[in-house]
Amino acid sequence: MSAAVVARRWLEILQSDAEVVAHAQGFQARCLHCRRRHLFAPNGTPLSPATIEHIVPQSWFGKHAALKLTQMLSGPNDLRNLGIACAGCNHSKGRGLDARGPTDTRAREVVEAMQAQRTLRFRRRTHERRDADSGAVGGVS
Ligand SMILES: [Zn+2]
Repeated sequence: MSAAVVARRWLEILQSDAEVVAHAQGFQARCLHCRRRHLFAPNGTPLSPATIEHIVPQSWFGKHAALKLTQMLSGPNDLRNLGIACAGCNHSKGRGLDARGPTDTRAREVVEAMQAQRTLRFRRRTHERRDADSGAVGGVS
């Protein structure tokens, strides 16, 4: 992926996370695991070692034991499946939890809890929310 495509993906994640704080200098977000603060430029470029976390691991998709976790997602890159994580947190999850697979009860429970957390913080893009909030669209009277 080009740098511009990656920045756009980051921007989508930042804008869909209700916990993210937007200000003139960019965005402030927190790691999904340890809640460490990460800063992003206004165009979505990370200014600290943040990575895109796949909440339900890519390798779990298509596996029967993970069906409950994957059935509401269009795929691993569904925005609802993406979060912000420190590089270190993301890699240790990958080596530990993700590798144990969806048949491991404990691994499934932890992913389920992360997914619930992301769902709770999920918000639609600003322009969609504005349309929904105003009720009427178009302003024709
Ligand atoms: Zn972290």
